[in-house]
Amino acid sequence: IWNQTATNLEKVISPQNYANWIQPIQFSHADTQSIYLSVPNLFFKEWLDDNYVDLINSALSVTADKNMLVSFIVQEKDPETLPEEPQEAPLVKQTTTNQQKETPLHKETPTLNPRYTFDQFVSGVGNQFAHAAAMAVANNPAITYNPLFIYGGVGLGKSHLLNAVGHKIMSDNNNTRVCYCSAEKFMHDMVNCIKLNKMDEFRERFRSIDVLLIDDIQFIARKERTQVEFFHTFNALYEAGKQIIITSDKFPREIDLEDRLRSRFEWGLIADIQAPDLETKIAILKKKADSNKIQLPDDVAYFLASSDTRNIRELEGMLIRLGAYSSLQHIPITLTMAKNNLKDILVDKRKEITVELIQKTVADHFGLKVADLKSEKRLKAFVQARQIAIWLCRDMTTASYPDIGSRFGGKDHSTVIHATKKIEKLLTEDPNLLKTMDELKEIILH
Ligand code: ADP
Repeated sequence: IWNQTATNLEKVISPQNYANWIQPIQFSHADTQSIYLSVPNLFFKEWLDDNYVDLINSALSVTADKNMLVSFIVQEKDPETLPEEPQEAPLVKQTTTNQQKETPLHKETPTLNPRYTFDQFVSGVGNQFAHAAAMAVANNPAITYNPLFIYGGVGLGKSHLLNAVGHKIMSDNNNTRVCYCSAEKFMHDMVNCIKLNKMDEFRERFRSIDVLLIDDIQFIARKERTQVEFFHTFNALYEAGKQIIITSDKFPREIDLEDRLRSRFEWGLIADIQAPDLETKIAILKKKADSNKIQLPDDVAYFLASSDTRNIRELEGMLIRLGAYSSLQHIPITLTMAKNNLKDILVDKRKEITVELIQKTVADHFGLKVADLKSEKRLKAFVQARQIAIWLCRDMTTASYPDIGSRFGGKDHSTVIHATKKIEKLLTEDPNLLKTMDELKEIILH
C-alpha cells in the first residue's frame, strides 16, 4: 500500500521534493486505520508533519479506498517507543486526576508545543515588546496585562510566545490549569458539543481554567455563534480574575468582530510583533540549529538570513531541509551545498520579481509616477525614491548595473552604483528608511 501511495505522490510533487522527502520514507507496519512509516530522524519527521502529512494522508486514503492516517516513526529510536503512545498532555493540565481521559474532548485537544519555550525564543528587533509583555504576564498571571493581545504577521513567533507563557506558568505552579487552544479548535469543539447536546460540558470546561491561551483569534471573524460563545467564556474568566492571552495576525480593529468583543480585546495590552532584522534572524537560526543538533556554519546562517524569506517558519524550513539533506547524504552543511540545495526555493522567488514590479511598487508608495523614477528630475523626493528603487533592483533581482541603468531611463552604470552605495549608507544610519525598505520588500514579495 505504501509503494502505491508513493507512486501516486510522485505524480504530484516535484522530483526534487520527492527525492528529498518521500523516497527516504520506509514502510514499517499498518493496522486497519493507520500506516506507520519510518523516517530517518526527528527533524525529518517534524518537517513531514508540518508540510506533507495532509498530502500523504489523502494519497493514502485514495490508495486504500478508505480513510487512513499516517504516523511517522523515527528510526533512530527504539521501536518500543513507537507513536501509538500519544505524547500530548490533556487540554487542561492538572496534576491530580486522570478524569479527563473519560472525556473524549480532552484527549483530542492540542497541547503546548514542547519546543516553544522562552528558552528557545530569541528576543530581538521586531519582537522585543511582545516578548517582554509575554514574560511579564508569565511571571505574574492575571496581575499585569489582561488580556494580553499579541498580533503580527504569519510565522513571526506569536504561537511560540503564547506556548512559552503556558510552559512558564505551569512550571512555576503545576496546579495552574492552563488551556491552550486555537480559535479554530474552539469553534470545532463548540460545534461538536452543540451537535451532541453537550454545551454545558463545553462551558464548564472552558470556564474552569486559570489561564486561557487562544491562538489565531482572527479565525472567528464573521462567525457569529462562536463569537457569542467566546464572549461569554471571556467574561466568565475575566470576571473570575483569570488570565487571557490572545494572538492574531491582525490588529483587533481590523478583524470583523462584534464591537463588544473587539473592545474587550483592547482592555489590556496590545503588543505587536514585526519582522526580525538580519541579526535576529541569524540568532534564531543558530538557536534552532543547536536544538536540532545541526552544524550550521556562520556563512550559511548569514546566507539563509539574508535571503528574501518572508517569515521565520520559512527560514526554519530551509534549515531543517539542509539538516535532513546533510544527515541523509552524510555530508556537512557548507555554503556551496546550501546554495545548491536551496536553489529552487530561492530562485523561484527571485524569478517573479522584476525591475518593473519594483519601479511600480516604489512609485506607488511615494505617490509618484514610474516616469518620475526614470526621469532626470533632481527634486529630493524623486532622487531618493529613484535610489531606493535602484537599490531594491540590485537586492532583489539579478539585473546588472548597466541593465538597471538602462531601465531607469538610460542612466549609466556609475549612477546606479552611486545610488546603491548611497542607500547602503543611509540604511545603517536611518531606522525609518530600514522600515520603509522592509515594507516595500513585503509588498513586492507578496
Ligand atoms: P506565528 O504564530 O506568528 O505564525 P510561530 O510562533 O508558529 O508563528 O513561529 C513560526 C516558527 O518560527 C516557529 O518554529 C517558532 O519557533 C519560530 N520562531 C519565531 N520567532 C522566533 C524567535 N524569536 N525565536 C525563536 N524561534 C522563533
